[in-house]
Amino acid sequence: MDFDLGEEHRLLEQTVREWAGRAVAPRIRDLDREHRFDTAILTQMADLGLLGISVPASYGGTGTDYLSLGIASEELEYVDTSLRVILSVHVGLNSLTLLSWGTEEQKQRYLVPQAQGKKIATFGLTEPAAGSDVRGIQSVAVKHGDRYRLTGEKQWISLADVADHFLVLAWTDLERKKQRDPSGLTAFIVERAFPGFSSGTLKEKWGILAGNTGFFRMEEVEVPEENVLGRPGEGFKIAMFALDQGRYTVAAGATGLIRACRDASVKYAKQRRAFGVEIAQHQLVKAMIARMESDYQAARLLWLRAGWLKNVGRRNTRETSLAKWFATVASERAAGDAVQVHGANGYSDDYPVGRFYRNCKGAVIYEGTREIHQLMQADYLLGYREDRATRCTLPPIHT
Ligand SMILES: Cc1cc2nc3c(=O)[nH]c(=O)nc-3n(C[C@H](O)[C@H](O)[C@H](O)COP(=O)(O)OP(=O)(O)OC[C@H]3O[C@@H](n4cnc5c(N)ncnc54)[C@H](O)[C@@H]3O)c2cc1C
Repeated sequence: MDFDLGEEHRLLEQTVREWAGRAVAPRIRDLDREHRFDTAILTQMADLGLLGISVPASYGGTGTDYLSLGIASEELEYVDTSLRVILSVHVGLNSLTLLSWGTEEQKQRYLVPQAQGKKIATFGLTEPAAGSDVRGIQSVAVKHGDRYRLTGEKQWISLADVADHFLVLAWTDLERKKQRDPSGLTAFIVERAFPGFSSGTLKEKWGILAGNTGFFRMEEVEVPEENVLGRPGEGFKIAMFALDQGRYTVAAGATGLIRACRDASVKYAKQRRAFGVEIAQHQLVKAMIARMESDYQAARLLWLRAGWLKNVGRRNTRETSLAKWFATVASERAAGDAVQVHGANGYSDDYPVGRFYRNCKGAVIYEGTREIHQLMQADYLLGYREDRATRCTLPPIHT
């Protein structure tokens, strides 16, 4: 077993670290204060190939493996969660799902411009009345000839007001909707340009303020049947598949946030003095910093394992869920302790740890809440849950 990153991975890590540290870190406090999503960041990420990371070169991507997606996610969230969220929805939830479930025509039309960074994509599952309970969504798609008419509202959608392409889940079988039978759900590729589509930004959120989170409405949006992703009735499986990749980026990102909390705390604890010594000399401060280190190392090993499983083409829903659950819960603990180490200074935005504290909480909620992952892990162990083979899988990468 080799625990070292290879040359290609190290280079990627350095490149993303250097870019995020130079181009975003010095401005992030202002962007966060102003609640400003800077679209120039998307252009720069596209130039670096990040918007096509882990997508094969034949579809406009970098052709790198899935560990690369994790490495980039960790480095981006080290600077700010809003950067990693872009990878989560654009690559993790959307592009890799198109890669695995899309027709050749869909890949050419949607995946290629997404991987090249010419179009931005996201994922619309959550609605005002349903998040964890996917079967509770109300959006419907009614077939008329060779087109579907989609009606519904999605809320809490990352990049809702920015994206061009949306992977949307809606009921196509209204009988099954009544019975809450998920085989009545279908996945669609929806374009912002389709008549009847509108979107907005949620202004009242208190974390990930440099990111865009919003809603979109579909009023009888006509979607050609060629834009059904997978087969009618496969929407639930496709959404769960998408989450396997999205959660992976969240796990790796939260790991980066733990590292950011650790580094900020180490630095501050050596500068600040109390009772005649650096606060780092106090054992209870050491305990918080040591815990950040053990959480960081464990979280990193968990996402690396999930990424390796993806590379070799093995089912990893269970391992990805564990990595996401562990890293996000640990990131909340690390951010809380990082604020604590900074004392009152941590309670201001003169230091980054307050932003880390606000940002980390979202990841404990989205892509499966803490409780949903806890239940999943228990159910696997107790034999109440097992993964069945799906018709389409993530293409393995033989390195
Ligand atoms: C910043 C941000 C970005 C987001 N981006 C996206 C996006 O891009 N696309 C998208 O589709 N969604 C997105 N979401 C939505 C997110 O995925 C949902 O918020 C999440 O799935 C939880 O759903 P909910 O908010 O409706 O909470 P609920 O499902 O209403 O849950 C409320 C509480 O009840 C608990 N609960 C629910 N069911 C159970 C159960 N069976 N057992 C135990 N406890 C339970 C939950 O754990 C939680 O604590 C985003 C959310 C945030 C905050």
